[in-house]
Amino acid sequence: MSVLVLGGAGYIGSHAVYQLIDQMSDVVVIDNLQTGHREAVHPSAKFYEGDCRDINFMRMVFKVESIDSVIHFAANSLVGESTEVPLKYFDNNVYGTQVLLQVMQENELKKIIFSSTAATYGEVDSIPITEDMPAIPTSPYGETKLAMEKMMKWCEQAYGIRYVSLRYFNVAGARESGEIGEDHCPETHLVPIILETALGKRPHITIFGNDYDTPDGTCIRDYIHIEDLIHAHLLALDYLDNGGKSDIFNLGSNQGFSVKEMIETARNVTGKEIPVKSGKRRAGDPSILIASSEKAATILNWRPTRTSIEKIIEDAWNWHVNHPNGYNSDVTNK
Ligand code: UDP
Repeated sequence: MSVLVLGGAGYIGSHAVYQLIDQMSDVVVIDNLQTGHREAVHPSAKFYEGDCRDINFMRMVFKVESIDSVIHFAANSLVGESTEVPLKYFDNNVYGTQVLLQVMQENELKKIIFSSTAATYGEVDSIPITEDMPAIPTSPYGETKLAMEKMMKWCEQAYGIRYVSLRYFNVAGARESGEIGEDHCPETHLVPIILETALGKRPHITIFGNDYDTPDGTCIRDYIHIEDLIHAHLLALDYLDNGGKSDIFNLGSNQGFSVKEMIETARNVTGKEIPVKSGKRRAGDPSILIASSEKAATILNWRPTRTSIEKIIEDAWNWHVNHPNGYNSDVTNK
């Protein structure tokens, strides 16, 4: 029996495929390569290029393969873009998940691990964020992820499809052995932007706001190493395999670092200057986001082990130095 990884050519999905194969699982990958990279798919995984909104394609894959469980990463995930083109997000994210659940139901598949986000919470009154806090998203992106969670809840009641939804905080880093890493186009995330600046691919990094109500005035986030994050998915699969009930878990490191602290750490790790400019606040950025991951610790027995930001940045830097142009090593300016 195989695990189907939808979106297995993307940053997070590709790391999941590698860890699943490390633990000897058979893996089937579906990805439409809209934002993913064929080169990021583990050579031992069975790869299908196609779109999860295409029900005939999905039915074909489920017919050909013996799929036992699904990990669903396939989604658009840029908060800013989602405010400009919300229907793109509802179509790809929500409708894509609807088709997936339809085909799972037709094939009597009963287990799904879902890639969700802290963006489901919106503005929060207190830190750290726990799963019982109200989810009132402030972006279409967060709204689509919340809608996908709700769709799964109703599908469980009707069809018995159990789910674990994992709400990620700020994911960064790369596989420790260096084969795969983070390569988005365009890149919007802090850690890769800092490292592209260290590599000289950008003249400077702009800090989005230094007048927040935090000790150094810049936003504080909870950074989690990609390998720790993925480990939680494998534990969640075991949990469902052992009869665990559907649930939602935060995944973070329970600690916060400011934008300035991240840049300073990257200077130490890389030995590069990393020029900085001050910019305006970015719309929709809350000042502090820190997870409580107590629930994942208690129920899934998940404990992140790579919690130092030095380690996260070191592993990301290792990928960037060895892949200065991402997966397309022959293209100079992506
Ligand atoms: N950030 C920044 N400059 C950049 C990119 C990000 O100052 O070029 C800040 C951003 O405002 C936020 C933090 O870095 O406070 C993390 O942003 P990212 O986009 O990586 O993740 P998010 O918290 O939005 O999920």
